[in-house]
Amino acid sequence: MAASRFSFELFPPRTPEGVAKLPGVVAQLAEVRPEFFSVTHGAGGSDQEGTYETLLTVVRETGIEAAPHLTCIGSTRANVAAALDRYREAGVKRIVALRGDLPATAMSAAAPGEFRYASELVCFIRETHGDHFRIEVAAYPEMHPQAPNPAADFDNFCRKVECGADGAITQLFYNADAYFDFVERCEKAGLRIPIVPGIMPITGYANTVRFCTGCGADIPRWARLRLEQLQDDKQGLLDFGLSMVTRLCETLLRGGAPGLHIYTINQAGPTLRLWESLKLSVTA
Ligand SMILES: Cc1cc2nc3c(=O)[nH]c(=O)nc-3n(C[C@H](O)[C@H](O)[C@H](O)COP(=O)(O)OP(=O)(O)OC[C@H]3O[C@@H](n4cnc5c(N)ncnc54)[C@H](O)[C@@H]3O)c2cc1C
Repeated sequence: MAASRFSFELFPPRTPEGVAKLPGVVAQLAEVRPEFFSVTHGAGGSDQEGTYETLLTVVRETGIEAAPHLTCIGSTRANVAAALDRYREAGVKRIVALRGDLPATAMSAAAPGEFRYASELVCFIRETHGDHFRIEVAAYPEMHPQAPNPAADFDNFCRKVECGADGAITQLFYNADAYFDFVERCEKAGLRIPIVPGIMPITGYANTVRFCTGCGADIPRWARLRLEQLQDDKQGLLDFGLSMVTRLCETLLRGGAPGLHIYTINQAGPTLRLWESLKLSVTA
């Protein structure tokens, strides 16, 4: 099976052990030559140094493109402008542009005149840097959890594309039909950008439920029951999770998905096992 856009997501490690482990993880993942790595970024401008350092580690260890995520909520335009200049100087050509989520303890969502939505960030990047950056945005086949309804959420997604997004990466999901329905809506709306599925390998029951609850992703009932029953059988759960996610990815790629973006959670093993299981090759 061939995929033309294969990317891996990392987060800035939060412990000295995580920092020490990162170059090895990145080197292992780089062996299958993803198109790029992306590096997450805390909302409100938090952990910008972590994103920057992780980005430099990827480029130094692998020579593969690294794309920082840039969140705008809780940041000032001046801070975002400075971050963009710094990334440009470091040779960055691609940004994953996001609103982000403020911690519940934060005082206010957006000060007057500052960013409220990712579409405003996309417009700002285009206004200030023209076409220098390729801009990826987030897409929600199962609807963003704070949206009032699917139609409003889809209109808001279209706004990001109108502002200049070049591509989208979806929130994780385990239901291929949700993705195909989203792509169909994009086609009907005349959106021509690639919508790359975001894929989370399954490594445990509790964390899968937590991730899905957090972002509003559905775990099909049959799969949830199977995972629940296997939660104390680590190997059994990994085997089941791998076959379930392999089938999901095969269905997506056969159905026309332009590639896959894998949430690696900074571990090489689950992503490489999935790669192996999919027998993937990357087309230039
Ligand atoms: C691929 C991917 C990577 C991610 N990486 C990170 C990361 O690194 N760091 C992080 O903190 N989070 C990350 N997230 C999570 C993301 O920040 C959250 O899902 C956040 O709640 C929404 O971000 P967004 O960019 O989709 O926001 P938006 O596109 O701005 O949408 C947010 C909500 O606002 C609504 N909305 C948008 N525009 C308008 C408008 N004009 N009027 C009214 N409502 C509107 C939307 O319908 C939606 O409900 C990532 C998500 C994905 C899918």
